[in-house]
Amino acid sequence: MESFAVNVIPPKVTVLGCSGTYAKPGGACTGFLVQSPRANVWLDAGPGTLANLQQHIEISQLTAIVLTHEHADHWLELPVVYNAIRHYVRCGQIPVYGTRGTLELAKKMCPALEEAFIWKIIADRSCQRIGDQNWKWSKTDHYVETMASRVDVGESSFIFTADTGPNWDINQLGESVSLAISESTFLADREHEGILHLSARQAGELATKINAAHLVLSHLAPGEEGERHTKQASQMFNGRVTVAAAGDQYIF
Ligand SMILES: [Zn+2]
Ligand SMILES: [Zn+2]
Repeated sequence: MESFAVNVIPPKVTVLGCSGTYAKPGGACTGFLVQSPRANVWLDAGPGTLANLQQHIEISQLTAIVLTHEHADHWLELPVVYNAIRHYVRCGQIPVYGTRGTLELAKKMCPALEEAFIWKIIADRSCQRIGDQNWKWSKTDHYVETMASRVDVGESSFIFTADTGPNWDINQLGESVSLAISESTFLADREHEGILHLSARQAGELATKINAAHLVLSHLAPGEEGERHTKQASQMFNGRVTVAAAGDQYIF
């Protein structure tokens, strides 16, 4: 039966870009492709991720776009994919789940926004079913309204912290997830600076709180050394730790 064959494909996340703040040479800012048998969701559209997305799917195969917040490194491919949809790609409007602040900026850059997208505003504790993916959002501890995401597909689950400082309670998104992708912008020596981002050590703490099976560190600022991030996260978390790289795929 076709339905059986479809259901045995495990959901997966592909890294489209993972540089924090600005892209490293040859890199791209934050973006992931979350795929399950019945949905292809582009989670954060950071600069550089549109090119990488098309190495995996065509734009017309997108089920939805989710944007965690309005900082430029997380969404600025949207006005570019807007061009593509309006002038070249044959597809219907794509649903975009994003914050009110992101929508206000997007309207300025995409004057006929509704021709390409159907915007649905997300806020703290919003939930949405996208294809066979159940999404839930939680407002983080960041400079602008920012939504961390949890995605459940059957028994599989995945949490993405988006950008956050240490005062966000990750357990608002539950626990026992297969995969956690956490921001890990710097190392523990900068924790005292009060920056609303996480250190690798703090990312490890979050992964322990939600009993994650696998922690992926992302959003490292350019120049940060991945090995040191892995080491510091592993001091707080006993599970598997990986530093994200564009093109990596994780089954969850
Ligand atoms: Zn960021
Ligand atoms: Zn940010």
